Amino acid sequence: MSAIADNLQAVQARISEAAALAGRSPESVRLLAVSKTWPLACVVEATEAGQRAFGENYVQEGIDKLTAIAGRNLEWHFIGPLQSNKSRPVAEHFDWVHTIDRLKIAERLSEQRPTYLPPLQACIQVNISGEASKSGCSPDEALTLCRAVAALPGLRLRGLMAIPEPTDDPAAQRAQFHRVREIYNHIRAAGLPLDTLSMGMSHDLEAAIAEGATIVRIGTAIFGERSYK
Ligand SMILES: *Cc1c(COP(=O)(O)O)cnc(C)c1O
Repeated sequence: MSAIADNLQAVQARISEAAALAGRSPESVRLLAVSKTWPLACVVEATEAGQRAFGENYVQEGIDKLTAIAGRNLEWHFIGPLQSNKSRPVAEHFDWVHTIDRLKIAERLSEQRPTYLPPLQACIQVNISGEASKSGCSPDEALTLCRAVAALPGLRLRGLMAIPEPTDDPAAQRAQFHRVREIYNHIRAAGLPLDTLSMGMSHDLEAAIAEGATIVRIGTAIFGERSYK
């Protein structure tokens, strides 16, 4: 088996174990393979091991890969910061977007989504750490933004995404994911049919699954340490 296939199997085992500990079925957690910075060959290797969903942070890099291996029934998720001037290629090429943090960008994506494609599956990014540098709407704005996004024809609102402050303390990880879960429950209680919690990365997927994550976004544990130029 290739290293990537081995790693995928190991990550699936972590997911299954975390789900079992939480009394959840392993199928209730989807694995998104975050392939940013990795060449197409790594994505291909992962697909040969059965991986179907991939996450990319940079618009052009993602589009280069997804067009190079079009027609293989893969699912592409945009998980990077959204800039207004790059919304069109995201709307035209990706299946999901996890990082909507303001209405303006949601409206652009909806308008730019080609009508021959199904609506763009959308998550609202919530900033739970409160750090000024991090993107995401504030927890207080999340319900209002969800309501507005749910009404846009080119988008289909699915849920919330969060990137907590990095910490190695499992209790602190869980506390942050718990806050996201509470916001999610609050929005569902208000009548919006959310079914997706996109949270958990290589170092904290167990805590995220314990708190209800339905999509974990995993890069390093599958492809290795990234090196940025
Ligand atoms: C890079 C990235 C990931 C993957 O992180 P790892 O720690 O490599 O698993 C997940 N989500 C987002 C938004 C990312 O930018």
